[in-house]
Amino acid sequence: MKYYEEISRALEEVPVINTHCHNVVDDKQSAVSLRELLSATYCGWNYDMSTIEDDPARFFQTMGCTSYAYWLLQAYGNLYGNGTPLNEENYPVIAKRIQTTYETTGSDQLQILQQICHYQNIILDDYKDPGNNHGYSVMLPTYRVDMFLHGYDKHGTDQNENCPYDYLSVPAASSFEDYVEKVRASIAARKKEMHCHSLKLAIAYERDLNFEVFDEGLADLAIQKRIQSPETIRAFQDTTIDRICKIAAELDMPVQIHTGLGCLQETRAIGLLTLIQRNPKTRFVLFHGSYPWMEDILALAHNFQNVYPDLCWLPLLSTSSAEQFLPQLLDIAGNRRICWGCDTWTAQESYGALLAIRHVLAKVFSQKIEEGFYSMPYALELAKNILYGNAKELYRISD
Ligand SMILES: [Zn+2]
Repeated sequence: MKYYEEISRALEEVPVINTHCHNVVDDKQSAVSLRELLSATYCGWNYDMSTIEDDPARFFQTMGCTSYAYWLLQAYGNLYGNGTPLNEENYPVIAKRIQTTYETTGSDQLQILQQICHYQNIILDDYKDPGNNHGYSVMLPTYRVDMFLHGYDKHGTDQNENCPYDYLSVPAASSFEDYVEKVRASIAARKKEMHCHSLKLAIAYERDLNFEVFDEGLADLAIQKRIQSPETIRAFQDTTIDRICKIAAELDMPVQIHTGLGCLQETRAIGLLTLIQRNPKTRFVLFHGSYPWMEDILALAHNFQNVYPDLCWLPLLSTSSAEQFLPQLLDIAGNRRICWGCDTWTAQESYGALLAIRHVLAKVFSQKIEEGFYSMPYALELAKNILYGNAKELYRISD
C-alpha cells in the first residue's frame, strides 16, 4: 500500500458531512461512565457490558477481532489513551479520564464531533422524536416515515412506538387519499418548520422491502372500511411508501432507506426494484451497501442514476466487506453519488467509524493508484466527495 500514508494524512483534516447518525447529543448531561458509553455502541448490541468492569479481559478476548471493537477501541485510545487502543490495562485510566472530563468541563460529545471529526453537518435520525434536531445547528434532522406505514390503524405504531396520527393534524383519515394528503402536509411542514432535508425509512427492521402491491382500492379498504387482512395491509403499506416517494420528489427531499440487515427476510436492496422503477424522479439513498448482499447495490446503482449508495455503517460493521465493495462501486457509480455516515449513538464511536472509512478510502485508493487507474489528485477528489461534496449536493446543504 504505497500511497496509504499519504492519502491517510490528506484525509485527516478534511471537512465531513456525516449523512446518518443517531446521536441525540445532550450538552447538559452531567455524568456518563465509560461502561454506559460502551453500552450504547454496536459492541453493546453483541456483548453484555454490565459485566465489563468485573472482567474486562473477557470482553477484549471475545469481541477483539470484530470490526466494531477494533475501531471503537482505537477511537478511545486516540481520544483518551495517548494513541494506545482501549484495553484491559488502560481501561481504569480511561474510565477515570472520562469521569473527570464530565465533572470539570461537561460533555465532550459536541467537541469530538465538530473539532476532532470535523463534521460540518450531521444528518440526525432521532427515531424517538422523528424530525427533531434538538436545537443543535450542526445536526440536520431527517424525518423518519416508518410510522406512516401503520396508519391503517388509528392506534398503529412503528417499532419505536411512534403513532402516525400524533404527527398528522387529525385523529383519523376519512379515506386513503385523505390520509396521503395529511402525510404530505406533515412532511412539507417538517421541511419548512424543522428544516428536514430528507426522509428516512428503516422499515427493514419490521418487514421485507418488496414493495410491489400498489393498489389504492385495497389500501382504501384497509383504512376506510377497516377491512384489515394481510392483503389490504400490504397494499396499504406498499402504496403509502410509493406515494411518499412521489411526495419526496415533489419536495426535493432524498429518501434514505435502510437495506440489508434488519429482519433479514427479503430485506436486501433488490426488493426495491419496482419502487425505484416507478419513481424515476425520486432520489433513493440506499444505506449500508445492502450488507451482506452488496451486489444488489451494484446492480441498482448501475441501472438507475437516481440511486445513491451510502456507505454508512459498513466500514464499522465489516471493514473487509467495505474494502471489497468500494472499488466495485467506484467502477460503476461514478464520482458524485457515493456518501458516508457513521450510524452511531455516541461521539466516540462516531470517531471510530470515521477512522474506519478513512482507512478504507486510503487502502482502496492506494491500490487504484498503484494499478494505474487513478492519479493521486483524482483519488483525493473522489475521497473528499465521498466524505463531503456528494452529500452537500445530494441534500442541498448550503454553506
Ligand atoms: Zn441507523
